[in-house]
Amino acid sequence: MIIVNSEKLNQLNSISTNDLYILTDFDGTITKDNSDSSWASIFKNPKVSKEFINECIKIFNHYHKFEIDESLSIAKKNSIMNEWYRKNIETLINFNITEEIINYASNNASIMDFRTGAVKFLETMNSKNIPIIVISAGVGNIIEQFLIKNNCNYPNIYICSNFLEYENGIVKSVRDNNLIHPLNKNEVFLPENIKSKIENRSNILLLGNSVSDIKMAEGNKNVFKLGFLDENIEERLTSFKEHYDIVCTNNTGYDEICNKVKILGQKMKKE
Ligand SMILES: [Mg+2]
Repeated sequence: MIIVNSEKLNQLNSISTNDLYILTDFDGTITKDNSDSSWASIFKNPKVSKEFINECIKIFNHYHKFEIDESLSIAKKNSIMNEWYRKNIETLINFNITEEIINYASNNASIMDFRTGAVKFLETMNSKNIPIIVISAGVGNIIEQFLIKNNCNYPNIYICSNFLEYENGIVKSVRDNNLIHPLNKNEVFLPENIKSKIENRSNILLLGNSVSDIKMAEGNKNVFKLGFLDENIEERLTSFKEHYDIVCTNNTGYDEICNKVKILGQKMKKE
């Protein structure tokens, strides 16, 4: 099902593709809701130890409750999320997790899976020269490998995420010591080389699957927001309709979205 604010949709369809870029979450947005996240996919490797899995579950159970606690102040939550993600990285290092394990998920479609039509969607955006900026609190290496493996790591795609660095094939650190967690997924943290690709474009199509994803675009550009709502639909629908211009439920595919949002479709009058 797709619920649309038609005024916003008409506006979006009337702008030029040269004046648009896409800001998108990855897990549950480019991939299906029931696909494992890039983090969770690390535990699905048959080579990881029980002790490692138990430690990951222990950390998740401790921190996840703060992630969904709306009574915490942003500052407090921000510092807890930072601590959580640091601990995640430390755990990968302490358990000598290898590059091979990190890459395993991206080569196994039964773990991570694209939404229907997503591959075609990425191809079309590349042919239209619409930049796509992926902002993800997931694992950048896995996202990148997953795109490469599926032949869609196009030059218009920029991944802003947690990139693990290796020493002798073992996780050692995060690139630039720059951790992206659910509360700092903000466009202002984009590196300069990515910012320069979009500075002349004044419209953003934001894609996300949680209300906090709308914070990815906090500048003064014109933002069109499309949200995927696949979990606890009834409880969250009102909030999604309040924050998103287009709400897609029940694992809506990109083929369906491109039919509705003409600017994303293959044939455009205005090009
Ligand atoms: Mg997500």
